[in-house]
Amino acid sequence: MDAREVKNDFPIFDAHPDLVFLDSAASSQKPRSVLLAMTRFYETSYANVHRGSYPLSDAATDAYEKAREKAAAFIGAARPEEVIFVRNTTEALNLVAHSVAEAFLNEGDLIVVSEMEHHANLVPWQRAAAWRGARIEAIPITDEGRLDLEAAKSLIEQGPRVLAITQMSNVLGTVNPVRTLAEWAKAKGALVVVDGAQGAPHIPTKVADLGADFYAFSGHKMLGPTGAGVLWGRHELLAELPPFLTGGGMIQRVRIDRSTYDAPPARFEAGTPPFAEAVGLAAAIDYLERLGMEAVWAHDRMLVEYALESLAQVPDLKIFGPRGEDRGGVVSFVFPGLHAHDLATFLGQAGVAVRSGHHCAQPLHRRLGVSSTARASFYIYNTREDVDRLVEALLKAREFFKDWL
Ligand code: PLP
Repeated sequence: MDAREVKNDFPIFDAHPDLVFLDSAASSQKPRSVLLAMTRFYETSYANVHRGSYPLSDAATDAYEKAREKAAAFIGAARPEEVIFVRNTTEALNLVAHSVAEAFLNEGDLIVVSEMEHHANLVPWQRAAAWRGARIEAIPITDEGRLDLEAAKSLIEQGPRVLAITQMSNVLGTVNPVRTLAEWAKAKGALVVVDGAQGAPHIPTKVADLGADFYAFSGHKMLGPTGAGVLWGRHELLAELPPFLTGGGMIQRVRIDRSTYDAPPARFEAGTPPFAEAVGLAAAIDYLERLGMEAVWAHDRMLVEYALESLAQVPDLKIFGPRGEDRGGVVSFVFPGLHAHDLATFLGQAGVAVRSGHHCAQPLHRRLGVSSTARASFYIYNTREDVDRLVEALLKAREFFKDWL
Protein backbone atom coordinates (compact mmCIF):
# COMPACT_ATOMS: atom_id res chain seq x y z
CA MET A 1 0.00 0.00 0.00
CA ASP A 2 1.43 3.34 -1.07
CA ALA A 3 0.06 6.05 1.23
CA ARG A 4 1.16 8.83 -1.15
CA GLU A 5 -0.92 7.31 -3.93
CA VAL A 6 -3.82 6.77 -1.55
CA LYS A 7 -3.63 10.42 -0.54
CA ASN A 8 -4.28 11.47 -4.14
CA ASP A 9 -7.74 9.94 -3.87
CA PHE A 10 -8.73 12.36 -1.08
CA PRO A 11 -9.83 15.81 -2.33
CA ILE A 12 -9.37 17.38 1.11
CA PHE A 13 -5.62 17.25 0.50
CA ASP A 14 -6.03 19.16 -2.79
CA ALA A 15 -7.77 21.90 -0.81
CA HIS A 16 -5.14 21.76 1.97
CA PRO A 17 -1.91 20.49 0.41
CA ASP A 18 0.21 21.13 3.51
CA LEU A 19 -2.22 19.66 6.02
CA VAL A 20 -0.90 16.87 8.24
CA PHE A 21 -4.17 15.26 9.26
CA LEU A 22 -3.69 13.16 12.40
CA ASP A 23 -7.27 13.04 13.67
CA SER A 24 -8.80 10.08 11.88
CA ALA A 25 -9.79 8.40 15.15
CA ALA A 26 -12.31 11.23 15.52
CA SER A 27 -13.43 11.01 11.89
CA SER A 28 -11.62 10.02 8.73
CA GLN A 29 -11.36 11.91 5.46
CA LYS A 30 -13.33 10.68 2.42
CA PRO A 31 -12.02 9.41 -0.90
CA ARG A 32 -13.45 10.77 -4.14
CA SER A 33 -15.15 7.40 -4.87
CA VAL A 34 -17.32 7.72 -1.74
CA LEU A 35 -18.32 11.28 -2.54
CA LEU A 36 -19.08 10.32 -6.15
CA ALA A 37 -21.12 7.26 -5.16
CA MET A 38 -23.34 9.44 -2.98
CA THR A 39 -23.65 12.21 -5.58
CA ARG A 40 -24.51 9.66 -8.26
CA PHE A 41 -27.11 8.09 -5.99
CA TYR A 42 -28.71 11.46 -5.22
CA GLU A 43 -28.65 12.44 -8.90
CA THR A 44 -29.92 9.20 -10.42
CA SER A 45 -31.51 6.84 -7.91
CA TYR A 46 -32.90 8.88 -5.05
CA ALA A 47 -36.29 8.06 -3.51
CA ASN A 48 -37.30 6.81 -0.08
CA VAL A 49 -36.63 3.10 0.50
CA HIS A 50 -39.02 0.29 1.40
CA ARG A 51 -41.97 2.62 0.88
CA GLY A 52 -42.57 3.30 -2.82
CA SER A 53 -43.93 0.88 -5.40
CA TYR A 54 -42.44 2.69 -8.39
CA PRO A 55 -39.14 1.80 -10.12
CA LEU A 56 -37.08 4.65 -8.69
CA SER A 57 -37.95 3.64 -5.15
CA ASP A 58 -37.19 0.00 -6.03
CA ALA A 59 -33.76 1.07 -7.31
CA ALA A 60 -33.04 3.02 -4.12
CA THR A 61 -34.22 0.09 -1.97
CA ASP A 62 -32.00 -2.20 -3.98
CA ALA A 63 -28.96 0.05 -3.44
CA TYR A 64 -29.70 0.24 0.29
CA GLU A 65 -30.03 -3.54 0.65
CA LYS A 66 -26.85 -4.07 -1.39
CA ALA A 67 -25.08 -1.78 1.08
CA ARG A 68 -26.37 -3.99 3.88
CA GLU A 69 -24.99 -7.07 2.12
CA LYS A 70 -21.64 -5.34 1.69
CA ALA A 71 -21.45 -4.34 5.36
CA ALA A 72 -22.41 -7.88 6.38
CA ALA A 73 -19.70 -9.41 4.21
CA PHE A 74 -17.11 -6.89 5.48
CA ILE A 75 -17.47 -8.20 9.05
CA GLY A 76 -18.29 -11.78 8.10
CA ALA A 77 -21.90 -11.72 9.31
CA ALA A 78 -23.79 -14.96 8.75
CA ARG A 79 -26.62 -13.09 6.95
CA PRO A 80 -27.38 -9.52 5.84
CA GLU A 81 -30.39 -9.27 8.19
CA GLU A 82 -27.90 -9.27 11.05
CA VAL A 83 -26.81 -5.78 10.00
CA ILE A 84 -28.85 -2.86 11.31
CA PHE A 85 -28.09 0.57 9.92
CA VAL A 86 -27.93 3.25 12.59
CA ARG A 87 -26.34 6.70 12.67
CA ASN A 88 -23.14 5.75 14.48
CA THR A 89 -21.56 3.59 17.17
CA THR A 90 -23.21 5.65 19.89
CA GLU A 91 -26.67 4.93 18.56
CA ALA A 92 -25.82 1.25 18.06
CA LEU A 93 -24.65 0.88 21.66
CA ASN A 94 -27.67 2.77 23.00
CA LEU A 95 -29.89 0.42 21.02
CA VAL A 96 -28.21 -2.67 22.46
CA ALA A 97 -28.12 -1.36 26.02
CA HIS A 98 -31.76 -0.32 25.95
CA SER A 99 -33.15 -3.43 24.28
CA VAL A 100 -30.94 -5.85 26.23
CA ALA A 101 -31.96 -4.12 29.45
CA GLU A 102 -35.62 -4.51 28.59
CA ALA A 103 -35.36 -8.14 27.51
CA PHE A 104 -32.60 -9.66 29.60
CA LEU A 105 -31.46 -7.53 32.55
CA ASN A 106 -32.74 -8.17 36.03
CA GLU A 107 -32.23 -6.64 39.42
CA GLY A 108 -28.79 -7.40 40.85
CA ASP A 109 -27.35 -8.42 37.46
CA LEU A 110 -23.75 -7.50 36.77
CA ILE A 111 -22.56 -5.56 33.72
CA VAL A 112 -18.80 -5.70 33.17
CA VAL A 113 -17.14 -2.91 31.21
CA SER A 114 -13.53 -1.69 31.24
CA GLU A 115 -11.76 1.36 32.52
CA MET A 116 -10.76 2.28 28.97
CA GLU A 117 -14.28 2.49 27.53
CA HIS A 118 -15.41 5.44 25.47
CA HIS A 119 -18.45 7.10 27.11
CA ALA A 120 -20.54 5.61 24.28
CA ASN A 121 -19.94 2.14 25.75
CA LEU A 122 -20.37 3.24 29.34
CA VAL A 123 -23.16 5.81 29.78
CA PRO A 124 -25.82 3.68 28.00
CA TRP A 125 -24.98 0.83 30.41
CA GLN A 126 -25.28 3.20 33.36
CA ARG A 127 -28.80 4.09 32.19
CA ALA A 128 -29.64 0.41 31.67
CA ALA A 129 -28.30 -0.46 35.14
CA ALA A 130 -30.26 2.34 36.81
CA TRP A 131 -33.42 1.26 34.99
CA ARG A 132 -33.18 -2.45 35.87
CA GLY A 133 -31.38 -2.28 39.21
CA ALA A 134 -28.21 -3.85 37.82
CA ARG A 135 -24.65 -2.93 38.80
CA ILE A 136 -21.54 -2.06 36.81
CA GLU A 137 -17.95 -3.11 37.43
CA ALA A 138 -14.96 -2.10 35.32
CA ILE A 139 -11.94 -4.19 34.38
CA PRO A 140 -8.96 -2.06 35.49
CA ILE A 141 -5.96 -1.36 33.27
CA THR A 142 -2.31 -1.95 33.98
CA ASP A 143 0.29 0.81 34.07
CA GLU A 144 1.26 -0.05 30.46
CA GLY A 145 -2.30 0.55 29.36
CA ARG A 146 -3.51 -3.00 28.82
CA LEU A 147 -6.49 -4.66 30.45
CA ASP A 148 -5.60 -6.37 33.71
CA LEU A 149 -6.52 -9.90 32.63
CA GLU A 150 -6.34 -11.39 36.14
CA ALA A 151 -8.87 -8.84 37.32
CA ALA A 152 -10.95 -9.41 34.18
CA LYS A 153 -11.03 -13.12 34.88
CA SER A 154 -12.19 -12.74 38.43
CA LEU A 155 -14.89 -10.21 37.45
CA ILE A 156 -16.14 -12.52 34.73
CA GLU A 157 -16.08 -15.44 37.21
CA GLN A 158 -18.90 -13.60 38.98
CA GLY A 159 -21.17 -14.43 36.03
CA PRO A 160 -22.09 -11.08 34.47
CA ARG A 161 -25.19 -10.73 32.29
CA VAL A 162 -23.27 -8.45 29.91
CA LEU A 163 -19.65 -7.90 29.00
CA ALA A 164 -19.32 -4.61 27.08
CA ILE A 165 -15.79 -4.03 25.84
CA THR A 166 -13.93 -2.00 23.26
CA GLN A 167 -11.95 -3.75 20.53
CA MET A 168 -9.38 -0.95 20.49
CA SER A 169 -8.94 2.02 22.84
CA ASN A 170 -9.37 5.42 21.21
CA VAL A 171 -6.82 6.90 23.66
CA LEU A 172 -4.20 4.20 24.27
CA GLY A 173 -4.41 2.37 20.96
CA THR A 174 -4.56 -0.89 22.92
CA VAL A 175 -6.15 -3.76 20.99
CA ASN A 176 -7.92 -5.92 23.53
CA PRO A 177 -7.94 -9.74 23.53
CA VAL A 178 -11.68 -9.72 22.83
CA ARG A 179 -11.86 -13.34 21.79
CA THR A 180 -10.40 -14.60 25.06
CA LEU A 181 -12.62 -12.33 27.13
CA ALA A 182 -15.64 -13.37 25.08
CA GLU A 183 -14.85 -17.05 25.64
CA TRP A 184 -14.65 -16.52 29.41
CA ALA A 185 -17.83 -14.44 29.40
CA LYS A 186 -19.83 -16.81 27.23
CA ALA A 187 -18.83 -19.74 29.43
CA LYS A 188 -20.61 -17.83 32.21
CA GLY A 189 -23.66 -17.09 30.05
CA ALA A 190 -22.96 -13.40 29.42
CA LEU A 191 -23.91 -11.42 26.34
CA VAL A 192 -20.82 -9.95 24.72
CA VAL A 193 -21.07 -6.47 23.23
CA VAL A 194 -18.05 -5.13 21.34
CA ASP A 195 -17.43 -1.48 20.53
CA GLY A 196 -15.75 -1.65 17.13
CA ALA A 197 -15.58 2.12 16.49
CA GLN A 198 -11.76 2.03 16.37
CA GLY A 199 -11.51 -1.61 15.35
CA ALA A 200 -13.60 -1.91 12.18
CA PRO A 201 -11.79 0.87 10.28
CA HIS A 202 -8.32 -0.54 10.99
CA ILE A 203 -8.26 -4.20 12.02
CA PRO A 204 -9.34 -7.09 9.80
CA THR A 205 -12.39 -8.24 11.75
CA LYS A 206 -14.79 -11.12 11.40
CA VAL A 207 -17.48 -11.21 14.06
CA ALA A 208 -17.40 -15.00 14.37
CA ASP A 209 -13.69 -14.83 15.27
CA LEU A 210 -14.35 -12.17 17.90
CA GLY A 211 -16.88 -14.41 19.62
CA ALA A 212 -19.20 -11.44 20.14
CA ASP A 213 -22.99 -11.26 20.20
CA PHE A 214 -23.15 -7.61 19.16
CA TYR A 215 -20.63 -5.44 17.29
CA ALA A 216 -20.98 -1.69 16.68
CA PHE A 217 -19.09 0.65 14.37
CA SER A 218 -19.32 4.04 12.65
CA GLY A 219 -19.01 4.57 8.90
CA HIS A 220 -17.56 8.07 9.27
CA LYS A 221 -14.37 6.72 10.89
CA MET A 222 -13.73 4.35 7.96
CA LEU A 223 -13.93 6.66 4.92
CA GLY A 224 -17.73 6.72 4.84
CA PRO A 225 -20.06 9.67 5.37
CA THR A 226 -21.45 10.83 8.69
CA GLY A 227 -24.85 9.42 9.59
CA ALA A 228 -24.32 5.75 8.71
CA GLY A 229 -23.15 3.25 11.30
CA VAL A 230 -23.75 -0.43 11.88
CA LEU A 231 -25.00 -2.58 14.67
CA TRP A 232 -24.39 -6.25 13.99
CA GLY A 233 -26.17 -8.78 16.19
CA ARG A 234 -26.50 -12.55 16.17
CA HIS A 235 -29.78 -13.27 14.43
CA GLU A 236 -31.29 -15.43 17.21
CA LEU A 237 -30.67 -12.61 19.68
CA LEU A 238 -31.99 -9.84 17.45
CA ALA A 239 -35.11 -11.93 16.93
CA GLU A 240 -35.69 -11.92 20.70
CA LEU A 241 -34.96 -8.23 21.31
CA PRO A 242 -37.62 -5.54 21.56
CA PRO A 243 -37.16 -2.40 19.47
CA PHE A 244 -35.35 0.72 20.66
CA LEU A 245 -36.84 3.45 18.44
CA THR A 246 -40.40 3.00 17.24
CA GLY A 247 -42.58 4.45 14.48
CA GLY A 248 -42.84 3.90 10.74
CA GLY A 249 -41.07 1.09 8.95
CA MET A 250 -40.66 -1.26 11.93
CA ILE A 251 -44.18 -2.60 12.47
CA GLN A 252 -46.43 -5.39 11.24
CA ARG A 253 -49.86 -4.34 12.55
CA VAL A 254 -50.76 -1.12 14.34
CA ARG A 255 -53.96 -0.49 16.28
CA ILE A 256 -54.64 2.59 18.34
CA ASP A 257 -53.56 0.93 21.56
CA ARG A 258 -50.98 -1.68 20.47
CA SER A 259 -48.68 -2.83 17.69
CA THR A 260 -46.75 -5.86 16.54
CA TYR A 261 -43.24 -5.46 15.22
CA ASP A 262 -41.47 -6.52 12.06
CA ALA A 263 -38.59 -9.00 12.03
CA PRO A 264 -34.97 -7.74 12.20
CA PRO A 265 -33.45 -5.69 10.71
CA ALA A 266 -36.62 -3.62 10.01
CA ARG A 267 -37.65 -3.85 13.68
CA PHE A 268 -34.64 -1.74 14.60
CA GLU A 269 -34.81 0.78 11.75
CA ALA A 270 -37.70 3.04 12.65
CA GLY A 271 -38.22 6.03 10.38
CA THR A 272 -36.44 6.90 7.16
CA PRO A 273 -33.03 5.24 7.43
CA PRO A 274 -29.73 6.82 6.31
CA PHE A 275 -29.88 5.12 2.92
CA ALA A 276 -27.82 7.58 0.85
CA GLU A 277 -25.21 7.42 3.61
CA ALA A 278 -25.36 3.61 3.53
CA VAL A 279 -24.57 3.79 -0.20
CA GLY A 280 -21.57 5.96 0.70
CA LEU A 281 -20.52 3.47 3.36
CA ALA A 282 -20.69 0.66 0.80
CA ALA A 283 -18.32 2.64 -1.46
CA ALA A 284 -16.01 3.15 1.54
CA ILE A 285 -15.97 -0.60 2.16
CA ASP A 286 -15.16 -1.16 -1.51
CA TYR A 287 -12.24 1.24 -1.17
CA LEU A 288 -10.90 -0.47 1.97
CA GLU A 289 -11.34 -3.91 0.43
CA ARG A 290 -9.43 -2.87 -2.66
CA LEU A 291 -6.52 -1.96 -0.39
CA GLY A 292 -7.12 -5.03 1.78
CA MET A 293 -7.69 -4.77 5.52
CA GLU A 294 -4.48 -6.69 6.22
CA ALA A 295 -2.56 -3.97 4.35
CA VAL A 296 -4.49 -1.23 6.18
CA TRP A 297 -3.55 -2.75 9.54
CA ALA A 298 0.08 -3.29 8.49
CA HIS A 299 0.29 0.37 7.46
CA ASP A 300 -1.16 1.49 10.83
CA ARG A 301 1.27 -0.75 12.67
CA MET A 302 4.25 0.57 10.69
CA LEU A 303 3.26 4.18 11.36
CA VAL A 304 2.58 3.72 15.06
CA GLU A 305 5.90 1.96 15.62
CA TYR A 306 7.69 4.74 13.75
CA ALA A 307 5.73 7.36 15.72
CA LEU A 308 6.49 5.75 19.10
CA GLU A 309 10.19 5.64 18.27
CA SER A 310 10.23 9.21 16.94
CA LEU A 311 8.17 10.71 19.76
CA ALA A 312 10.45 9.08 22.33
CA GLN A 313 13.14 11.51 21.06
CA VAL A 314 11.08 14.54 22.13
CA PRO A 315 12.35 15.61 25.59
CA ASP A 316 9.74 15.89 28.37
CA LEU A 317 6.98 14.32 26.27
CA LYS A 318 4.93 11.74 28.19
CA ILE A 319 3.43 9.10 25.91
CA PHE A 320 0.58 6.78 26.87
CA GLY A 321 -0.28 3.25 25.80
CA PRO A 322 1.54 -0.04 25.29
CA ARG A 323 4.26 -1.11 22.83
CA GLY A 324 3.68 -4.30 20.89
CA GLU A 325 1.60 -6.08 18.30
CA ASP A 326 -1.53 -5.15 20.23
CA ARG A 327 -1.08 -1.45 19.55
CA GLY A 328 -3.08 0.36 16.88
CA GLY A 329 -2.46 3.72 15.23
CA VAL A 330 -3.34 6.05 18.07
CA VAL A 331 -0.82 7.91 20.24
CA SER A 332 -1.83 10.17 23.13
CA PHE A 333 0.71 12.38 24.85
CA VAL A 334 1.22 15.40 27.11
CA PHE A 335 3.94 17.80 28.08
CA PRO A 336 3.40 17.70 31.86
CA GLY A 337 2.50 21.22 33.01
CA LEU A 338 1.08 22.29 29.65
CA HIS A 339 -2.63 21.98 28.91
CA ALA A 340 -3.31 19.62 26.00
CA HIS A 341 -5.56 22.23 24.35
CA ASP A 342 -2.70 24.73 24.27
CA LEU A 343 -0.42 22.12 22.75
CA ALA A 344 -3.02 21.07 20.14
CA THR A 345 -3.67 24.71 19.23
CA PHE A 346 0.05 25.27 18.70
CA LEU A 347 0.29 22.10 16.57
CA GLY A 348 -2.76 23.20 14.60
CA GLN A 349 -1.07 26.51 13.78
CA ALA A 350 1.89 24.50 12.52
CA GLY A 351 -0.43 22.61 10.15
CA VAL A 352 -0.65 19.43 12.22
CA ALA A 353 -4.23 18.48 13.15
CA VAL A 354 -4.49 16.47 16.37
CA ARG A 355 -7.30 16.20 18.88
CA SER A 356 -7.06 17.23 22.51
CA GLY A 357 -9.27 16.72 25.55
CA HIS A 358 -10.52 13.66 27.41
CA HIS A 359 -11.58 11.98 24.13
CA CYS A 360 -14.87 10.89 25.73
CA ALA A 361 -12.93 8.68 28.14
CA GLN A 362 -12.95 10.49 31.46
CA PRO A 363 -12.55 7.41 33.71
CA LEU A 364 -9.49 6.41 31.68
CA HIS A 365 -7.94 9.87 31.98
CA ARG A 366 -8.58 9.79 35.72
CA ARG A 367 -6.69 6.48 35.82
CA LEU A 368 -3.85 7.99 33.78
CA GLY A 369 -3.69 10.88 36.23
CA VAL A 370 -4.29 13.62 33.66
CA SER A 371 -7.38 15.65 32.81
CA SER A 372 -6.65 15.68 29.10
CA THR A 373 -4.21 14.49 26.45
CA ALA A 374 -3.33 15.42 22.89
CA ARG A 375 -3.87 12.58 20.44
CA ALA A 376 -2.41 11.79 17.04
CA SER A 377 -4.18 9.08 15.08
CA PHE A 378 -3.19 7.57 11.76
CA TYR A 379 -4.92 6.16 8.71
CA ILE A 380 -4.23 5.02 5.18
CA TYR A 381 -3.32 8.48 3.81
CA ASN A 382 -0.70 9.21 6.47
CA THR A 383 3.01 8.86 5.80
CA ARG A 384 6.21 8.76 7.82
CA GLU A 385 6.73 12.38 6.74
CA ASP A 386 3.52 13.24 8.61
CA VAL A 387 5.07 11.76 11.75
CA ASP A 388 8.25 13.77 11.12
CA ARG A 389 6.16 16.95 10.82
CA LEU A 390 4.45 16.12 14.13
CA VAL A 391 7.80 15.62 15.86
CA GLU A 392 9.17 18.85 14.39
CA ALA A 393 6.10 20.79 15.59
CA LEU A 394 6.35 19.21 19.06
CA LEU A 395 9.98 20.29 19.36
CA LYS A 396 8.95 23.84 18.44
CA ALA A 397 6.08 23.72 20.93
CA ARG A 398 8.50 22.64 23.66
CA GLU A 399 10.69 25.61 22.89
CA PHE A 400 7.73 28.00 22.74
CA PHE A 401 6.20 26.82 26.01
CA LYS A 402 9.49 26.16 27.84
CA ASP A 403 8.55 28.37 30.81
CA TRP A 404 5.51 26.17 31.47
CA LEU A 405 7.32 22.83 31.56
N1 PLP B 1 -16.28 4.12 20.79
C1 PLP B 1 -15.03 4.49 20.52
C2 PLP B 1 -13.90 3.61 20.98
C3 PLP B 1 -14.79 5.67 19.83
O1 PLP B 1 -13.54 6.05 19.57
C4 PLP B 1 -15.89 6.46 19.42
C5 PLP B 1 -15.67 7.75 18.72
O2 PLP B 1 -14.69 8.43 18.92
C6 PLP B 1 -17.17 6.02 19.71
C7 PLP B 1 -17.34 4.85 20.39
C8 PLP B 1 -18.37 6.81 19.31
O3 PLP B 1 -18.45 6.90 17.92
P1 PLP B 1 -19.51 7.87 17.27
O4 PLP B 1 -19.21 9.25 17.76
O5 PLP B 1 -19.31 7.70 15.81
O6 PLP B 1 -20.86 7.40 17.72
